[in-house]
Amino acid sequence: MININDAPENAKRIFLELVERFNELNINPTPLNYYVWYQYLKGENAQFRQEMETILNDPFGYDDRAGKRLYQEFLQDENEDSSEFDRALRRLINLMIQKMNVWSDKLEQQTKDLDDCAKSLSNPNLNPDDLKRITDTMLSAAHSMSENSKAIQQEMIMNSDEVQKLRHDLITAQAAAMTDELTELGNRKAFNETLEELILENGERPNNLCLILSDIDHFKEFNDSYGHLIGDSVLRYYANIMKRNQSKTETICRFGGEEFAILLPNSTLQESRARAEQIREAIESAVLKRKNSKEPLTQITASFGIAEFDGKKDTSESFITRADKALYLAKKSGRNTVKDEFDLIEKFH
Ligand code: GH3
Ligand code: MG
Ligand code: MG
Repeated sequence: MININDAPENAKRIFLELVERFNELNINPTPLNYYVWYQYLKGENAQFRQEMETILNDPFGYDDRAGKRLYQEFLQDENEDSSEFDRALRRLINLMIQKMNVWSDKLEQQTKDLDDCAKSLSNPNLNPDDLKRITDTMLSAAHSMSENSKAIQQEMIMNSDEVQKLRHDLITAQAAAMTDELTELGNRKAFNETLEELILENGERPNNLCLILSDIDHFKEFNDSYGHLIGDSVLRYYANIMKRNQSKTETICRFGGEEFAILLPNSTLQESRARAEQIREAIESAVLKRKNSKEPLTQITASFGIAEFDGKKDTSESFITRADKALYLAKKSGRNTVKDEFDLIEKFH
């Protein structure tokens, strides 16, 4: 499994760019080229980057041969703390190169045999036996060349499966880096990215993106009474309550600790209030019990703050701050309640 600290979100960006450049420059999508370009776009090795840029400035540009040279010169022996993904890809490429060398040795021998045959054929004193021997050799060389090329094709197919698997691992790692392990909701990073995307999409249009922030009430006390493990189950339970009526467009994330965020595109403040009320009531009326003894636990409640994105004025920070202020107001008003940014205005004016 890939270590998720290897910045896979960066790897995904690199892969997308890589695919685009491969198309644009007509580069063969071999594992080696993948690897060389992946490292180049990652840009960690300055010397390698410079060399690659020199190659890209050349009118003949990058080709398989240039890739192989760069790989051998800069990347082959790199082994200090590189990622699992890099190591797997490098193993694959080393295997490919070994195989290619074997094939090219074989092909070279066969080409030489054919060449010798061709030379012998120009001898004017050939007798029928010689002619038969030479043509037999030619046929056999041609046959094994064709067998070899089938083997090469087979090998390529196998390796491209391996590349597919590597890409799949990369995407899985990418998803893992965006997911909160405990609740399986998006994590703070997922929240930030989704919000940035939504803000870009919304442009200057106000009034169609809302944020519900919620925070479990007196959760410290709850943990102190029942312990962190039961506290963790409550967080999972609460996450499931939120997921129960999740609409297709909503993004639900764990904002941190016992705080959660729901982004609601195409929703009015009223609709978002109704959604928050639905969650508030569901958690308030849940009867939680210990798994073994069935002993009931104290009631859990949560407080909610809602803001509506203002496309003309808001940044992601000011948007979150208003929802957070509304949440704070909900806490100050006795908890287990929903407040929005207009409640803030009434409160402070
Ligand atoms: P308030 O009603 O004002 O929100 O009170 P509170 O006790 O919930 O707030 P406070 O911020 O003081 O405490 C939050 C608590 O949430 C403290 C911490 O023990 C608990 N908590 C945060 N993350 C986790 C977690 O992952 N698991 C568990 N079990 N508890 C957590
Ligand atoms: Mg809190
Ligand atoms: Mg709390």
